[in-house]
Amino acid sequence: MADTVPFSGIRDPSERIRALCRAGGQVDIDPTIPTKLYFRSGGQMIRMATVYYDEGSLESAFILFTKYITLFVEKLPRHADYNQASKADIKDVKKKLQDVFPIAEELKEKLRIKYIEEETKRREQERQLQEQIAKEQERLRLEQEKHEREEKARLEKLRIESEELWIQEQEERFRQLQEKEKEKLEQDLAQLNIGANTPDLPNNKTSVSGGAGYQQPIPNFVANDLSSNTPSIPSRDLKKNVIADSKGPGSALPSTPSFDRSTKPAVFDHFTSIGSFEGSVKGLHPVVVPTVLMQKFLETAKPNTDRNIETCGILAGKLARNQFHISHVLIPKQSGTSETCTTQNEEEIFDYQDSNDLLTLGWIHTHPSQTAFLSSVDLHTHYSYQVMLPEAIAIVCSPKYQETGVFMLTRERGMVIIGSCREKGFHMHPTEPPLFENCPHVNLVDGVSVILKDFRKS
Ligand SMILES: [Zn+2]
Ligand SMILES: [Zn+2]
Repeated sequence: MADTVPFSGIRDPSERIRALCRAGGQVDIDPTIPTKLYFRSGGQMIRMATVYYDEGSLESAFILFTKYITLFVEKLPRHADYNQASKADIKDVKKKLQDVFPIAEELKEKLRIKYIEEETKRREQERQLQEQIAKEQERLRLEQEKHEREEKARLEKLRIESEELWIQEQEERFRQLQEKEKEKLEQDLAQLNIGANTPDLPNNKTSVSGGAGYQQPIPNFVANDLSSNTPSIPSRDLKKNVIADSKGPGSALPSTPSFDRSTKPAVFDHFTSIGSFEGSVKGLHPVVVPTVLMQKFLETAKPNTDRNIETCGILAGKLARNQFHISHVLIPKQSGTSETCTTQNEEEIFDYQDSNDLLTLGWIHTHPSQTAFLSSVDLHTHYSYQVMLPEAIAIVCSPKYQETGVFMLTRERGMVIIGSCREKGFHMHPTEPPLFENCPHVNLVDGVSVILKDFRKS
């Protein structure tokens, strides 16, 4: 019965309802457990479902009510001993089913509406988020474009400026060259003037005309040189700057804005057999045990203990906010030996539980002359508790060795081996790995009182 339902990731409202129904349909019947125990367990289911309903844990309530329906409509009628079951029990269940069916239907409808609302809200949030992302991306794109435009303009300005500078330099160089040439020409002329009286000087004419046409190739040279060199020199370094610049602010801005996932609606990851997984320890809801319980029980058991006879009692209590609270120790009429304890007239215990709305949460017994452990008979006794409620505990008090154990069967091995063992009385079981363990889900608390009801005296 300790099942888990993978709920994470399911969003579709109908699919979520189907998952709850599947969880409610997971009820296994052990044919070796008498039908009587299942009728009692049914009452316990309704009690817990009602607590969940009142606390607003609708999923847990729905699963438990559905389990109740599955158990009594589908599964238990197939039990081999169902024909021998008490007519009063069957009648009682049929009456209860008349109430449970409409409640389960009502819960299903409430949950369906709730899931649809959650899904609508989630889609709206997702849409808003997408919108926000798109807006942010558009803003970044515009910013990037603006940045690129500005950078391009700046580059262009720099290029023009450096081109002008280069032209100025070239002009200056040319002017200097021109001056040098002019000086040289003047010197040449001066030398020619020395021999100016010489009558036949054909060279004179050519050198003058050569002087006039001399200016022509220089501007040409300047223009060629300018067009082939200027654009590449300044722009290469500047381009590097542009790339580096655009990387800087670009990488600092996130491409998609991060968003807070904690606002996502909570999802149920698991369910144990009784409902919500919330606050559980290793899949078990905590069981709160007042420390005074053991003390009170040992005082009551003392006359038996002194005669080396075991005493046993039933641990009962309530469910509240996903925790079980043991509030009562009920001591039934019984007969004991040094190693066994057999209860009698259990009906009055159950009647008392019914009228006080108490759940069965486990049992307690003494080992007057042995240490605290679960004997083979104890293992079988505890199996029927744990199969009905995975959280059920077995407290063993050993006054002689001054030790107390709070035990349960190991779920992987103890429950399987004992569940399939058909032997009676004291017998051997394989011991390794262990069939029982200390409960991981028990909280011992001081200062909380407990009611001890001794039915042996009535
Ligand atoms: Zn024992
Ligand atoms: Zn056995």
